Amino acid sequence: MTQAHSTPRITGVILAGGRGSRMGGQDKGLLEWHGRPLVAYLLEALQPQVDAILINANRNQARYQQYHYPVISDELSDYQGPLAGFAAAMQAAQTDYILTIPCDAPELAADTAARLLAALQGEQAEIAVAHDGERLQPVHALLPVSLLPSLQAFLAKGDRKIDLWYAQHRMASVDFSDCRRMFRNINTPQQQAELAEKIPPSPPFAKGGTEEPRGIESPFEKGGLRGISLPVIGVCAWSGSGKTTLLTEVIPRLKFAGLRLTVIKHGHHNLELDTPGKDSYRFREAGADQVVLASRKRMAMMQECKTQREPELVDVLRLVNRDCADLVLVEGFKHTAIPKIEVYRPSVGKPLLYPNDSHVIALATDDMTLDVPAHVTKLDLNQPDSIAEFILQWRTRQLAPITNTNATIRTAPSCADARDPSSLSITEARSRIMANLQAVAPALKRPLRDALGQVLAQAVISPLNVPNHVNSAMDGYALRSDDLPGDDSRAYRVIGKAFAGQAFSGECGKGECVRIMTGASMPVGTDAVVMQEHTEAGAEGYIRIGTGHRVGQNVRQAGEDIAQGSTVLPAGHRVNPADLAVLASLGIAEVSVIRPLRVAFFSTGDELRSIGETLAEGQVYDSNRYALYGMLQQLNVEILDMGVVRDDPASLETALQQAAATADVVLTSGGVSVGEADYIKGILAKLGQINFWKIAIKPGRPLAFGTLGKALFFGLPGNPVAVMVTFLQFVQPALLKLAGQTDYEPLLLDAICQSRLKKQPGRTEFQRGVVRREAGKLVVDKAGYQGSGVLSSMSKGNCLIILPEETATVELGDVVQVQVFGWSG
Ligand code: AMP
Ligand code: MG
Repeated sequence: MTQAHSTPRITGVILAGGRGSRMGGQDKGLLEWHGRPLVAYLLEALQPQVDAILINANRNQARYQQYHYPVISDELSDYQGPLAGFAAAMQAAQTDYILTIPCDAPELAADTAARLLAALQGEQAEIAVAHDGERLQPVHALLPVSLLPSLQAFLAKGDRKIDLWYAQHRMASVDFSDCRRMFRNINTPQQQAELAEKIPPSPPFAKGGTEEPRGIESPFEKGGLRGISLPVIGVCAWSGSGKTTLLTEVIPRLKFAGLRLTVIKHGHHNLELDTPGKDSYRFREAGADQVVLASRKRMAMMQECKTQREPELVDVLRLVNRDCADLVLVEGFKHTAIPKIEVYRPSVGKPLLYPNDSHVIALATDDMTLDVPAHVTKLDLNQPDSIAEFILQWRTRQLAPITNTNATIRTAPSCADARDPSSLSITEARSRIMANLQAVAPALKRPLRDALGQVLAQAVISPLNVPNHVNSAMDGYALRSDDLPGDDSRAYRVIGKAFAGQAFSGECGKGECVRIMTGASMPVGTDAVVMQEHTEAGAEGYIRIGTGHRVGQNVRQAGEDIAQGSTVLPAGHRVNPADLAVLASLGIAEVSVIRPLRVAFFSTGDELRSIGETLAEGQVYDSNRYALYGMLQQLNVEILDMGVVRDDPASLETALQQAAATADVVLTSGGVSVGEADYIKGILAKLGQINFWKIAIKPGRPLAFGTLGKALFFGLPGNPVAVMVTFLQFVQPALLKLAGQTDYEPLLLDAICQSRLKKQPGRTEFQRGVVRREAGKLVVDKAGYQGSGVLSSMSKGNCLIILPEETATVELGDVVQVQVFGWSG
């Protein structure tokens, strides 16, 4: 536990000593909830809160002992109730306090111990007991071990009533009304059935929250991974079959498809990441429960597993950072019920695993003549592309049940709805969009200047060393390092001059030097330059040099900037002005670039008028095409502006078909949310493979995405601010990736927020902000009124303030992430 030494030490006691009479005599601690006994949930929730744990059980001791905590029985026989358990625990505990919790209420709050202790100390009470807002919950209690004599005396009188004993002591009643589900217990088979419906929260169990744990029925919960809403796929094999090699081949391919990957590997017995002597190692040795090593490049979390049992995959998955996990690949954990790809090489001489493991969905083998049953897909181990493709398709299928095109066409998302389970998180939407995008072909050779702003199709390899020759970095005198002055200044004869482009042709010997200018080639024999300012004139034809010079100083080595044969610019890089200069410095006259994307777009809506027309009542000028034009210009794509298309099926169909026939990407705005005259959804559903999503973001909730013939299609919302936000979040990275650019993630900066920002949890919100530097720090204010239709704040602002899904209202001084508009300089 993370308390200072001055705080009292606490033993958590799970009271599992009851008779379970109303449950037909079942041992309640061992009742299963989603595949695990209740006691397991409680151990997990208690462990971070207390210094030690005891399990109080009066039968099935051997089963409880499997958890490697001491199991104690009541001294009093015949199931005398919780007080008997308290007494047994007080006798056994090595700490000042015990925290008692019943075994049949698995959702213990993460701060139970801390809240009880704070109240006990704050109110100077002897004992602290939880209260659910309606009544006392007497077995959720913090009790000092020093009360054992009082308790024993009470029991000796034959008393068993807990409240009567509590009444003898100063008691703090501690409000847990915000956390009532922690008291939801099982006393009857009906309660057991009710609890079975609930999905366990992940530990540390949510603080507060009368709300139910979020229960999106996820396809990943099938394999015993309830509560883990991530696609998880394993690779299993006998050792020596090449699991790791396969994963290392597949990972870059999945990355290329835009997925963020987490890999979990089951390690050997005593996993050591750092070595004796390292600071992190010393912290662990000193007793830290968790050591997190963090640097600019990467972080590692090392957690001591106190239970001594093998970790279960579900435990490990709870550590996974969702920001790095569109897909989890697992090596090891071969007995866990997750979908697996078996790697099989007959030459290893081991039997196949799939006949005994129904979770194997594919067999990757180097013997393609093998016969496999229909439910197992055969994959060629020598074709990592096809294995990656299989995984991608598997993942897409796993995710598919969340969106159902037909069902969502009929849904009417409204911004007023709270996050509903059918909406997608922004991360999920982005990863679905990015997953299968391939850069357009073909590549074109372009003269150097025309390559500005284009994406390189091939890496540029340097034909030369830059600098080409060893040369001077200073104006001064070149001489031999082994001839530099020792303890005293010395005179050197100046034997000639070397200028940039005009080398000195002689050789420089000892006692000699050559006057040299910046950039001039080093004369033969010399390897150091003394700056002009560090010399003095000597006798005619001589200079004097003082002491304190270094071997090889002030000299640029050949290839120091760019070595011949090295990669100057990687494929997928967008050529910027500095790159043009670098390419020119190598004498490169033309480069191979990916052809620019062609993007067609039009606006939909009967109410829209073009500039120059007069507005009648209820009509608006079409602004979306201008926003799209502007943002597309920034991305160097070929733009095809198709104007306004009326909300009429025939015109929409023709426009969509034309757009898809000419462009790589088609964008429309309007008509994807609710609106009686919006026909576009129906026509899109007919012409292409389009998903209609509700995304948990504001603004920009409705979005259509898919393919229209060969073109990629985005149906953006109508609202102009939403158009810009969804473009920046979804369309821009997709266009960059299709254009071949490898670095398509926007740069996010941390800034201190100087406005209070109201926000609903459960969706990602984008507010328009003005970011600037103040006293050396980045600060951000909101840019005026934030209504979804208010374009002017978009134009006043220079960034989007990103408020992630889990964030609630932002207070002054909170750090927020901002995405600076590419066009605000
Ligand atoms: P819709 O999604 O078609 O229902 O449009 C939502 C809102 O955005 C309506 O108030 C539309 O009038 C407005 N809107 C749609 N398209 C445009 C556009 N191209 N320019 C300006 N406002 C638009
Ligand atoms: Mg409309």
